[in-house]
Amino acid sequence: MIRYDLVCADGHEFDGWFSDSAAFDKQARKGLVSCIHCGSTRIEKQLMAPGIPVKSNRKAAPAEPAKPMLAGAFDPRQQKLIQMMREVRKAVEENAEYVGNRFADEARKIHYEEAEKRGIYGETTSDDAKALIEEGIEIHPLPILPEESN
Ligand SMILES: [Zn+2]
Repeated sequence: MIRYDLVCADGHEFDGWFSDSAAFDKQARKGLVSCIHCGSTRIEKQLMAPGIPVKSNRKAAPAEPAKPMLAGAFDPRQQKLIQMMREVRKAVEENAEYVGNRFADEARKIHYEEAEKRGIYGETTSDDAKALIEEGIEIHPLPILPEESN
């Protein structure tokens, strides 16, 4: 079956189902297709929309398809930011001592002057980081670069 949007000589729009385009031509020629509004048999096809229900076809246009999104270090500004973070890390790595997971302990020792005053960096849990901050120990999160986050 093919659904045709039809229009009569007076411009009334309606639709009809036909087994094929030849069937429409035959019926229209014989005057068997008439306008549902005025009964005119001078009918023409508009657009062909096979298999699409009238209602959903007529209602609001289909939702705009989802746009492909791109994420990651493609934006030049983002590249600059990553470059900056890289430099921060580099500076930290050159000027601070890596203490690994002893970070919280070492930070505390330095703060309470139990250890040599120096810059350190390492890993700590967010609970420990919170505790350090609550103790008034100044710590800063290090930027995690995209290629290091996995
Ligand atoms: Zn009509």
